[in-house]
Parts: sequence; structure tokens; C-alpha cells
Amino acid sequence: MQLAPFPPIFLYLSLCFSVLFSASILAEESPVSKNSALVPVSVQLSWQHQFEFAGFYAAIQQGYYRQAGLDVTLKAWQPGILATDEVLAKRADFGVGYSSVVIDAAKGKPLDLVMASFQYSPMILLSHTPIEHLQQLSGAKVMHYGDVLIKTFIKRINEVAHLPVKMLSPTGNLQDFIDKKVDLYAAFQTNEPYRLRQKGVEFYEIDPKSFGIQSYSDILVTHHDFAANHSQIVAAMREATILGWQYALQHPVAVVDYILEHYPVNKDRQALLAEAEMTKRFVKLENIAIGNLNPLKIMAQALEAQQHGFISKQQLQDFDAHKVIFESHNLYLTDAESKFLRENPVIKVGVDPSWEPFEYIDDKGKWHGISADYFQLMGQRLGVVFEPSRAATWNQVLMDAQSGETQVLSCAVASPERQKFMNFTDPYLSFPMVLVAEQSVSYVEDYHLLKGKTIAVPKGYWAQEWLETNYPEINTLPVASVTEGLYAVMHKKAFAFSGNLASINFAIKREGLNGLRVVGDSGIRFDLAIGTTDKEPELLSIMQKALASIDETQRNNIYKKWFQLEVLNTTDHGTLIKVILASILIASVLLWLSWWFYQQKRRQSLYINRINELSFATYTDASGAIQWASNSFMALVGCKKSDVIGQLHQKFIHPEEDPELYEKVFATILQGKTFSGEVRSIGCNGKDSWVAITMVPEFKYGKVVGVWTTRVDITDKVKLKEVAIRDALTGLYNRRQLNELFEPLLHKAERNKSPFAIAMFDIDYFKRINDQYGHQQGDEVLVQVAGLATRHFCRANDMLFRVGGEEFVLIGDYESESAFLKHLERFRELVAGLNIENAMSPYKVMTVSIGALYCNKVSEVDTTYTYSVIDRLLYQAKEEGRNCIVSEQQC
Ligand code: GH3
Ligand code: MG
Ligand code: MG
Repeated sequence: MQLAPFPPIFLYLSLCFSVLFSASILAEESPVSKNSALVPVSVQLSWQHQFEFAGFYAAIQQGYYRQAGLDVTLKAWQPGILATDEVLAKRADFGVGYSSVVIDAAKGKPLDLVMASFQYSPMILLSHTPIEHLQQLSGAKVMHYGDVLIKTFIKRINEVAHLPVKMLSPTGNLQDFIDKKVDLYAAFQTNEPYRLRQKGVEFYEIDPKSFGIQSYSDILVTHHDFAANHSQIVAAMREATILGWQYALQHPVAVVDYILEHYPVNKDRQALLAEAEMTKRFVKLENIAIGNLNPLKIMAQALEAQQHGFISKQQLQDFDAHKVIFESHNLYLTDAESKFLRENPVIKVGVDPSWEPFEYIDDKGKWHGISADYFQLMGQRLGVVFEPSRAATWNQVLMDAQSGETQVLSCAVASPERQKFMNFTDPYLSFPMVLVAEQSVSYVEDYHLLKGKTIAVPKGYWAQEWLETNYPEINTLPVASVTEGLYAVMHKKAFAFSGNLASINFAIKREGLNGLRVVGDSGIRFDLAIGTTDKEPELLSIMQKALASIDETQRNNIYKKWFQLEVLNTTDHGTLIKVILASILIASVLLWLSWWFYQQKRRQSLYINRINELSFATYTDASGAIQWASNSFMALVGCKKSDVIGQLHQKFIHPEEDPELYEKVFATILQGKTFSGEVRSIGCNGKDSWVAITMVPEFKYGKVVGVWTTRVDITDKVKLKEVAIRDALTGLYNRRQLNELFEPLLHKAERNKSPFAIAMFDIDYFKRINDQYGHQQGDEVLVQVAGLATRHFCRANDMLFRVGGEEFVLIGDYESESAFLKHLERFRELVAGLNIENAMSPYKVMTVSIGALYCNKVSEVDTTYTYSVIDRLLYQAKEEGRNCIVSEQQC
């Protein structure tokens, strides 16, 4: 007899050796039965007790944890304790982690991210002096807690500083900052600034966010093992903590008083209340649910971490934000289901004693195999013990199931016969049913060809039921096990054996059988599910929920444990069938793995694409020509692809921006540095927009080969800012902006020991212009004066403000008082020279009076005083007949 070639259809079928994934079920009930004892869990805090952890205190205070079945202990923080380390070492079930947990997770640490208390980080650096250039921080001593935001910021400093920043180990003691033992101190905006203000300590805040560095903070983390084994506890913890935060934000006073009463707090009530007020905006953002963790944002953070060298490119590639965000396949049970489980702490399971690798019972009566692993996990989740039956054969198992003796069948096909007395869940395993015969047998294309032949089938198994129903012309030989069936073929008692490919493979390997091969495929599969006795209907939904709670990773792990390893072990055996089966299995595993990696990669690149789209990204080569642009960038600049690709990046910088500055920036990036700043850009349609750009060099073999530019569209923000600070009529800065800038400008002069020049001018007899020529004409005159002033006071540091109806203030840098007065005098002449009629003024034309103050040195920064001086000087000028300047040099 001739050997038929191995049919490709079989290879295809073997690919379906997949574990089935069922959808998770969500319901409304509390995850842990209300009457059961509370589960103790611990949370390691990341700082001293304060409002930062209000969600946790409130959930305790309001009984949210209790209602969820949890007894939560908050572990106090001490210097030296890192919450994530406590979780990784399993000394705490949960920990409050800094934003760096994203990096830890990307590096493969087994952490699951459960929720974020703070949607963006309040982390800042405190400094003793204002920082204008990062170079100023050369060699600065800094104390921080490894927060990635701060680490990124320090990287930026080190890129430009002559001396690297020095790290001191954190003490958590603000006094170290006050005593100037450190130059920079990592702090929470919600916390330390208040304390320093209370103590009257001068300080400056450096906010990494203004450098475009953003992240979550106070991320609740748990060990991956804990999440895998106690997903309902983790889910309950998350839900209750979110409820806690909701309460705390609505009732800050009650929560503050609760904290004070129950925990050792080293700040006073007022400080806690101030913290509560400040904390709100970090926890609850419009349109974002409290606690939310967005995989995209996590991905963006990982991307940023990679760009700063905290993780490798490979780690970024391998990182999947979905995997590290805890997804509870919540096992919410109804009251009836919970009651059933309470009344049935031990559930009897019908297990086939010898059906490897699906299930078998060893000499000691212990249950092993795929189903055993599934039931192990499900038992933990349901809080019950699944006890395997003692039945010696599968037939006995079925009889026990029929009588209701065993409540559950662990792994069975939902055949019509069995459905008469059992309910079945969705299948969780699926394998093809094949025919095995001697090597010399040709491939059986059609089972009808088996007419009159004897086929061995496991007794009572679905294969028997199926064969007898569909091919009654075939003689079946029921056997007690797969092995017995295979021996029946070898001893020519049967022409072939019909069974499940996975168990046939397993038996052939174990028995070391030679000379057999797969000769036929039934075209149908063993879809293996869990059966539950119809005498206990709750059991079906319970098992269905328990099965759904086992996630993809856990299923894959079980699958790999029982198949991948087996395949590796078979390669030293030489029989044809084993080689065939092994290669099928290897091929399917490899294909499955490559599919899986492909999916991962695809997902990864989808994320990166989305991030690029969200960030209006472009990629520029070293010559500055754009090589790639996201669609969103093209939409932003209103250009077609052909208008963008190959064009110099500079084409999209607004002509009013200094082109030299841009060239300089680009040159610095080509030296390997990063740049971020606000830039006005212009599009193909001539429309301008404002973007905050971050330009990051891309290296190849240590050389910069291009630049990635990402952007945040801040046009609206800039416009809004402009509206807020400018006067609508004249376009000059308004009074609010003067209030904003006055003190900093005075400070700057004091610091730099530079002169400070300020003048106030007011139109003379303006009321009369209004009265005689109308208000509208008055407005036009104001615009003309403002225009003249803008053209005349046009030095780099000149600043003009309209502070009242027809009252203006000028602040500028002038090398001497005489130069200042000369310039003012010229302005006074120019105003009169406009020849704007004011018939009711003694001068007949419009004039201005000016009060001027020139300080060689600012000794004391006092805006109120300074303002009162120029106000007085202007008044004097009015008194002295108007159209003149009165000046003073007194600061
Ligand atoms: P003096 O020489 O003492 O400065 O006389 P004056 O008439 O300019 O007196 P005063 O500063 O008291 O009057 C300012 C007037 O400017 C009062 C108000 O009617 C007018 N005014 C204020 N804002 C506007 C504005 O936006 N448009 C116009 N047209 N008039 C304004
Ligand atoms: Mg006036
Ligand atoms: Mg006035």
C-alpha cells in the first residue's frame, strides 16, 4: 500500500489548537459575599499621612471597603521605604507608587497598575533662587524620590550644565531645604509650598510640566501574582477607593477631621484643608473618571522614558500598556450564587482518571492536567474546593454525573446525549478529532470509506457517540483509554483509532509507540466545556463566570505548560507519527507565537501611530527636511502630503519668529540635545498657529541622524492668554498684566543691580475731546496715541500698559536717566505733533503729561510705593500746567 502525502488540511486544522477565550461577565453585585469574613489587605503609603491619600481614608471612614468585603490597613511611610518595593517583596498587597511605576513595569517588574489617584503629577522642584536657565543648576544638590518626572528633568539639566547635578539621599525632611542643605527639593505642589509660605521661607517652584514632562501620580499598584490570583479583591479595592475619592472631594472637611482623629499627622488642620483644596484639581479632571488609567497616556509616558534613556528601545517595543493596567475580569456573583457557594464549600468534580494532557489522577489520587490548572484558579476565585471524583473510568464518571453524585464535569464535550442531564458552559478548549492507523494506511478522505471497518473509540466518550450516530455502518470497538485504543490498532484488532489529537499525541509519546500516524480528520473538533448538573442550576452561571475570570495570559500559560514543553521533549523520538505530530504542534505553536508577536507589534505600532497623531509628530532628517509627517500635522498646517514631505521644517515656522534662533536650536539638537519651547507656526493656507514643540534627536550608531518633533497645539491657549492680558481697544498690555509683571520686573532689576525706569502718561483734557467730538472719536485718539507709543517705545525691553481710560505706563531698561527723559520728551513732542484737535485745551491740540521715575538701583522691591511715586509725579505734571514731564530719581 502506498503512503499518501500528508494533507495540508491537517496542518491547517492543527492551527486551531487554540485555547478558547470567553468574554468576561460583569454584573452589579459586590465581589465578595457580604456575609463572609472580611479579607485583610494592606496598602503601603508613599508619604506621611496627609490628604494625598484621602481616597483611602474616606473609603475606610465611609465603610466602602467593608461593603466590598475588605479590611484595609494603611501602612505608614517612613524614610527609606519605597511603596513599589514593598509590593514587589510582597510585604504589602498594594502600594501607592510614583509615576516611575510605568518604567518599572516596562522593565518587566511584575506590577499591575490598578488606578491613578492623581491624573497628573503634582511633583515639582523647590529652589532657593528663581531659575531662568537650566545651566544655573550646574552641580546643584538635589533630593528626590526617584520620580521619573524629576529624573527626566535632571537629565535635561545635565545635558546643558557644566557639572552634573548631585543627588542626596532623600530624608523627607523639608528642614533640609530650609537650612539650604539642598539646592533643589522634590515636593508636591499640594503640600510643601504651603508649609514654606507658613514659615515665611522664600522659595521658587520649578514645574517639570512647563518642560512638557507629564505623568500620572499616586498610582495604586499590586503584584502581578496578587492581581492574577485575587482579581476580585483588586477590583473591589479599586472601586471602593474611587468611591472614597468621590466622597473626599465632596466632603474635604469631614475627611480632614477623620484623618486628624485617626492617624498621626504632622501638619495642622489648616494645612490639611489647604492641601485638600489644592488636591482636587489633580484628582478630578473634567471628562476623566476618577482613578482612570489610559493605556495611551501610559504608552506616551513609556515613549518619553525611552527617549530619555530610562528604558531601552526593545523594552518599549515589548511594552504593552494594556497588559500592565489591571483589568479585573470581575467575578460578581448574585446573592443566589453566593448562597450556593456558601452551602457547597466542596464541589464534587467528575474527572477522567486517564486522559492526559487534559486531566488524569495520579497514584496518590491527585488531579493533574489542563482542567486541574483551570479548576485550581477557579477554586481560588470562588473560595471553594473542587474535589476530583474517585471514579475509575470515564464511563463511571458519566454515570455519577447522571445520578447527580458529581456536580461538575471538568472537561467534556456538550454532546446531545449529555445535555439531557447536564448544562454546559462555553467551551474553553478545542482540538480536532482525528483518525490514527498504521503507517501503511492511505489517508482517509471520507469516513464513509471506513464502512465495515472496525474503529476503536474510547468507551463512553463523545467520539463514540459521534461515530455511531453519523456512521452507523462503521463498527466501533469501545476501549477503556487512548492507550488501549492505540494498542488495539497495533495489534490489528482495529483498523484505526478515533480520538482527540492532543491526547493521542500525548499517549504516543508516553508509551513510545512506533509505526502509527494520523490518517484522517473528521472535520470536527472536540469543543471541551465544563458541565454542571441540571439539579443545581446556579452552578452553570457560577462556572461560566469563574471561567470568564481567567484571562488570556493565564490561559496561555496553562496551554504552554501542557503543550509547548511536551513538544520539546518529543524531538528525540524517531517515529514518523511523532515527528509529524511534533512538527504539527511545533508549527502551530510557532505560528501561534508569531501571530501573537505580530499582534503585539501591530498593537505597539498602533499606539505609537496614535501618539504620533495626537502629538502632530514629524520626522526631519539631519538636513532639516521633513521625511515623515503625521496626518494630524498636515491637518494642523492645512497642507497636503506633497507640500510637506521633503520641505525644510523651517518652512512651517512663522516669519515673525527669529529664523536664526530656529537654526541655532536645530544645530543644538544635531549635537544630541533636546529642545522644547513655544513656537508660532504657519501653514500652507497662511494660517498661523501656536505650538509647544519638543524636538528630540534620533541616534544611529551614536550619531544624530534625524529629529523627531512633537507638538501640542496651544493656539487657543495663547489666544486666550492674549485676550486675558491685552487691552481690546489698543492692543497694549492691560492693568492686570501690569500687576502680574510689576513685581517680577522690579525683582529682576534688584537682582541684576540694573536700573529701573518707569513712566506714567495721561492725555490732557481728554474729557473735553470726548465731549466735543464724541466718544467714538475719543476711542480713535486713544488708538492713535497707543500706536505712536508702540512705535516710539520699541526697545527690546520696553513694555507698554494701558492702565486706565487714557492713562498709560511704560517700563523699560534705559542706560541713564537723561537718555530716558530725552526719549520721553521726544514722545511728548510727537504727541503734540500729531496735531489732533482739542479746541477746548489751552494748547488747542492733544497733549500728554508725564510722570517719570528713574532708579539707578532698586534697593527695596515695593510695587505699591513705586506706583504711588509715579502717580504723584504725573499729578504734579498736571498741576504744573500739563504737556510736560516731572521726574524724580528716588527708589
Ligand atoms: P486731565 O488733563 O486732568 O487728565 O483731564 P481729563 O479730562 O483727561 O480728566 P480725566 O483723566 O479725569 O478723564 C478721563 C476721561 O476719559 C474720563 C472718561 O470719560 C474718558 N474715558 C475713559 N475711558 C475711555 C475710553 O475707553 N474711551 C473714551 N472715548 N473715553 C474714555
Ligand atoms: Mg486725562
Ligand atoms: Mg486720566
